[in-house]
Amino acid sequence: MIYLDYSATTPVNEEVLNTFNKVCRNYIGNPNSLHQLGKEANKLMNEATKQIANLLKVKESEIIYTSGATESNNLALKGVAFFYKNRGKHIITTKLEHASIKETLNYLEKQGFNISYVNLLDNGLVDLSHLKSLITKDTILVSICYVDSEIGLKQPIMEIGRLLKAYSKVIFHVDGTQAVGKININLENVDLFSFSAHKFYGLKGIGCLIKKENIELEPIIHGGKSNTIYRSGTPTLPLIISLAKALRLSFENLEIKYQKVLKLNQKIKKELKKYSEITINSNEYSIPHILNISLNQIKPETFIRAMEKHEIYFSTKSACSLLDTFSTSLLALNKNEQEAATSIRISLSYLTTEQEIEQFLTFFAKEYQALNLKKREE
Ligand code: PMP
Repeated sequence: MIYLDYSATTPVNEEVLNTFNKVCRNYIGNPNSLHQLGKEANKLMNEATKQIANLLKVKESEIIYTSGATESNNLALKGVAFFYKNRGKHIITTKLEHASIKETLNYLEKQGFNISYVNLLDNGLVDLSHLKSLITKDTILVSICYVDSEIGLKQPIMEIGRLLKAYSKVIFHVDGTQAVGKININLENVDLFSFSAHKFYGLKGIGCLIKKENIELEPIIHGGKSNTIYRSGTPTLPLIISLAKALRLSFENLEIKYQKVLKLNQKIKKELKKYSEITINSNEYSIPHILNISLNQIKPETFIRAMEKHEIYFSTKSACSLLDTFSTSLLALNKNEQEAATSIRISLSYLTTEQEIEQFLTFFAKEYQALNLKKREE
């Protein structure tokens, strides 16, 4: 099997899984129970929270555990919108966002909020002067992804955050789901930050929303005490501990892992550039873990099925976007409907080997030529 869909989800790291199992077995108490077992569980949870806070350079009290980035994004956007609705009803975002941002904002639009989309420059980065021009006294929130899940464009988050500091009433949310564990992240100028453990070899079902101390949120899940007042439910201790472990491991040798992925990415790009009908959509601002291309002449679903026969797996667009629609992210970048309707995403990991890439390229050539030939005969 050749797995090239690491941006959809990653396989769990064995050490992380062992940690999860150990905590499940050895800590049966609810961290909020007052007895000894509860206290032990609570102590362990606090240690994990401290570790996460140290890794991300935030305060322990700023960490809210969620079920994943979809929930973190929902809590950030709805939480801000409902808490600050009397301050204003205007929200700014990009056309590159994941469905959990896009659809939450569509929902908020129906609730009376106004959504503006900031222009992208030709290279796919946010147009900062357009962003500035969109801000009004009604603006309460700007939400921008650190790295988008389809093209892998890394946005200048520090610079955007710095710009937004001049507007004391505008809150800055960043969806960091595709960034954490792959690149260095800096949350200095960010108010709210979402991420999910299953994108960096952690378990599915746990994520975080970082909420800086001075920001308030209206909770979306009510029901008593958890680790914070912003998200109720019994703390998922084994998942929380496993998240801390996965995060710590993902931060180790980050640069070495990045360089390995970069080399693999360059190898694929060099080969795919030989195909005159293929467009390479990811550019020098994309992280090397995500390589988006448009097949143009071939339907991406057909190609995915052809490659699946060889047990090679990758995605069309992001795994969470609706089927049978073109990529709105790509349309925003290239303004070309055919390219937006025929894109595939190859996503790489430091676990990917050169041999896997060679095999992938061999089967790519074989299936691409066969499908092209079939198309010409039709
Ligand atoms: N945001 C981005 C940028 C993503 O790539 C994803 C997952 N595809 C999510 C949010 C949602 O994450 P989760 O699966 O943890 O809900």
